[in-house]
Amino acid sequence: MSRNIIVLGAGMVGVSVAWHLARRGHDVTLVDRREPGLETSFGNAGIIQREAVRPYAFPRDIGTLLRVLPNREVDIRYRPTGMVSAAGPLLNYWLNSGGERYARIVEEWASLIMRCQDAHAPMIEAAGAEALVRKGGWLELYRTRKEFDERLQEAKENHERFGVEYEVLDAEALYAKEPHLAKGLIGAIHWTQPWMVSDPGGLVQAYARSFAEQGGHVMQASVEEVQQVGTGWRVKTSEGALEADQVVVAMGPWSGELLGKLGMNVPLFVKRGYHMHYSAEEGATLNHWVMDAEKGFLLEPMRAGIRLTTGAELADLDSPPQYKQLAAAEKVARKLFPLGKRRDAQPWKGARPCMPDMKPVIGPAPDKEGLWLAFGHGHQGFTLGPATGELLAQMMDGEEPAVEMAPFRVDRF
Ligand SMILES: Cc1cc2nc3c(=O)[nH]c(=O)nc-3n(C[C@H](O)[C@H](O)[C@H](O)COP(=O)(O)OP(=O)(O)OC[C@H]3O[C@@H](n4cnc5c(N)ncnc54)[C@H](O)[C@@H]3O)c2cc1C
Repeated sequence: MSRNIIVLGAGMVGVSVAWHLARRGHDVTLVDRREPGLETSFGNAGIIQREAVRPYAFPRDIGTLLRVLPNREVDIRYRPTGMVSAAGPLLNYWLNSGGERYARIVEEWASLIMRCQDAHAPMIEAAGAEALVRKGGWLELYRTRKEFDERLQEAKENHERFGVEYEVLDAEALYAKEPHLAKGLIGAIHWTQPWMVSDPGGLVQAYARSFAEQGGHVMQASVEEVQQVGTGWRVKTSEGALEADQVVVAMGPWSGELLGKLGMNVPLFVKRGYHMHYSAEEGATLNHWVMDAEKGFLLEPMRAGIRLTTGAELADLDSPPQYKQLAAAEKVARKLFPLGKRRDAQPWKGARPCMPDMKPVIGPAPDKEGLWLAFGHGHQGFTLGPATGELLAQMMDGEEPAVEMAPFRVDRF
């Protein structure tokens, strides 16, 4: 039976949910205060990460914690105020990042990641977006034997347990692929399955156009409040009120704020990140997406230039940008590859929407018939948007989802 559904938030997650619901014949309106794909889903590293079968854990070893503490590292930075306001979720994140708890989370998380490409593929095709997607994988670079060997051991396990494919490159094989990287690297892991997107926001926009071609409506308005009215829902926006049978909240890092107004307290916190585009110096080319694994940043040869994306900054969602982490990453990156001039007037800042157990929230809101949730995808929301859309649409239509969804319901908190 066709229903009238409003999806709030047009990032990778909301657009994918809307796309699947429209494909199933529902009358869907997708609402965002901006055009689709201009927030977190715009500025990321653009990798559809089939290799990321273990979610990003909080570092628990004393060596890493001591290294990060002075707040001068490239991979992780923090602001004391951000640490205090997210203290509860961060403590739980820390507790969930080791032992049996983490082992169980990996199994559950991997069940989503393993679907990522099968879920993106039909959307890429329907959107005619093949030109934005590059296949063939990316390179994780290593400088020291110990770190390389530890990661290779994990890669081997991920291959056996979750079908992750990779090739080991020694220094010679690596420099044959990337001749302009500076000497000193001892090798790399070539994750061969992932797909790389040369304009991540462009892919979300292409998916949104495909949604509209299926009869979906895209509305630009700021969402102010959501209220249950009889058996349906009313959404108050800057452009007036909308009514629907069902509402999906997919507002990424802003989802908690809206749900708070409904009396729902979700332990969402953010890890912010930055990017900047650069030219390459005359005669230098970067052929692959590369991660400097021991320093903690990525370089991505995208449409807009070589994009440098930073690691995590633990800070409040709305606190002013702080560009020291990007500057530190840029300094190391310039030694790794001959980057030329900065291309953007200002660095981009975004915020990964994170949950304390590293898993997204996908499913119904308890005691609120007709309200559905899809947010909190952390480091891999660009990868997981389409799988989330597919699974949530199955749940909303009363079908048995292709994956056990209990681990992703919000009532686990
Ligand atoms: C530096 C960096 C690198 C990353 N690299 C990768 C990667 O390589 N691969 C990967 O899979 N993931 C990556 N991620 C994570 C990924 O970008 C996010 O998980 C994902 O974009 C989240 O998507 P979303 O749709 O939930 O949120 P968003 O894209 O932020 O969408 C939320 C939408 O809600 C809208 N909204 C908010 N409030 C309102 C309101 N009141 N009214 C109306 N609209 C509203 C916003 O305008 C926005 O469009 C990276 C993140 C960062 C920061």
